[in-house]
Amino acid sequence: MYVNLTFTDPDWPQATITAMADFAAQHRDELRACQQDARFPSEIYAAMGNHGWVGPFTPQDEGGSGLGVAEYCLIEEEVGRLGLVSPQISIQGQRWLIDWATPEQRERYLPGMARGTLIFSESISEPGVGSSMKLMRTTAERDGDDWIINGAKTHVNLGCESQVTLVYAIAPEGITAFLVDTDLPGVSTTHTDPIGLRLIPTADVMLDNVRVPGSAVLGEAGRGMDTFFSTFNMSRLGNASELIGFGRRALADAIAYGSGREVGDSVVTDFQGIQWTVADCYSDLYGASLARDHAANLHDAGKDVALATTLAKKMAISASEHAVNEAFALTGGHGLYTDTDYGQLLHDMKVLRVAGGSLEVLRNYVARRVLRADDYEGLG
Ligand SMILES: Cc1cc2nc3c(=O)[nH]c(=O)nc-3n(C[C@H](O)[C@H](O)[C@H](O)COP(=O)(O)OP(=O)(O)OC[C@H]3O[C@@H](n4cnc5c(N)ncnc54)[C@H](O)[C@@H]3O)c2cc1C
Repeated sequence: MYVNLTFTDPDWPQATITAMADFAAQHRDELRACQQDARFPSEIYAAMGNHGWVGPFTPQDEGGSGLGVAEYCLIEEEVGRLGLVSPQISIQGQRWLIDWATPEQRERYLPGMARGTLIFSESISEPGVGSSMKLMRTTAERDGDDWIINGAKTHVNLGCESQVTLVYAIAPEGITAFLVDTDLPGVSTTHTDPIGLRLIPTADVMLDNVRVPGSAVLGEAGRGMDTFFSTFNMSRLGNASELIGFGRRALADAIAYGSGREVGDSVVTDFQGIQWTVADCYSDLYGASLARDHAANLHDAGKDVALATTLAKKMAISASEHAVNEAFALTGGHGLYTDTDYGQLLHDMKVLRVAGGSLEVLRNYVARRVLRADDYEGLG
């Protein structure tokens, strides 16, 4: 729901919503088949890139659409609502490149990523490292002008399909980010089988004595934490938007079904208890959308957004989880079969409850901000 987003071109939102809905309808069967098989639909994704839905921030002369955070949020919400391929990983990657890459790195990767023809992944998590980067074991050692990287990464969306992966590793200077071409000797990948977001399948990525040139470093050696945190405020809004999209789809589909389903002398949506459920879920989605819109507008205005984006994702997780859970109150048994979307939505939203900043990590940050501020962040 777009309650208070500010768009540069007032005609862009409706035109984009209509175009994305038509596109999703046209590709529905193929998307469903890929979802079942956990297969990345590369041609559909490239077609999304052609429409400008994969590179919202990237400047037009580098293959993108040159838009802002509000437009990015709308694209991500429609992706979640319509069940399209999430461009979130690539958009975060493009942001990394725009903020930190050398002109050569930009020229090499950015246009293809923005057009959806060059696939990017981010290799941060490790089998023993998720929420805490301090335990990272992947190493990068200098060898002349080159670096040698060794380690194991896990949960990497599009790890098998990507041509370049952003690897975080411990160098002598500290945590460092490297743009690693996945066809280099020593890089190997194996698909894993996630319950959700199956259109962008996950992989384990092994790095065995991978030699990369000095020019592969993103930013500076030892400044990996700066690059790491720089994109997360923005990407939280993408996560929040997809979550709101999942919740909207679950609730709208359930209302459409429930309003036609006769039970006794009524239809399901005539029951007072069901109407309150609809009201509560709708309110939560509305509140989450407002929080997301506020954070997006602050982001576009260049303001400090860490608390606002964290709250936006936190509220979107709750609203999405509530709507997807309660959809079953309207659908009964109808929602419990795999030819409906409800089960998949439950799994998709659970992935974004954990990945890209888990609910617990978000709650820790909000609590820290409230407890440390003199006025308890506006409470006092
Ligand atoms: C489908 C999927 C896709 C993913 N995609 C990527 C990707 O593309 N690239 C990538 O690098 N990673 C990716 N991830 C990894 C994801 O970011 C991690 O799963 C996440 O950071 C949590 O790490 P963990 O799973 O190791 O949980 P742990 O760190 O082992 O934590 C376990 C639980 O404890 C909670 N917890 C942790 N710290 C605290 C605390 N201080 N207080 C309270 N609770 C806490 C966590 O929230 C979590 O629920 C993906 C994960 C999944 C499941």
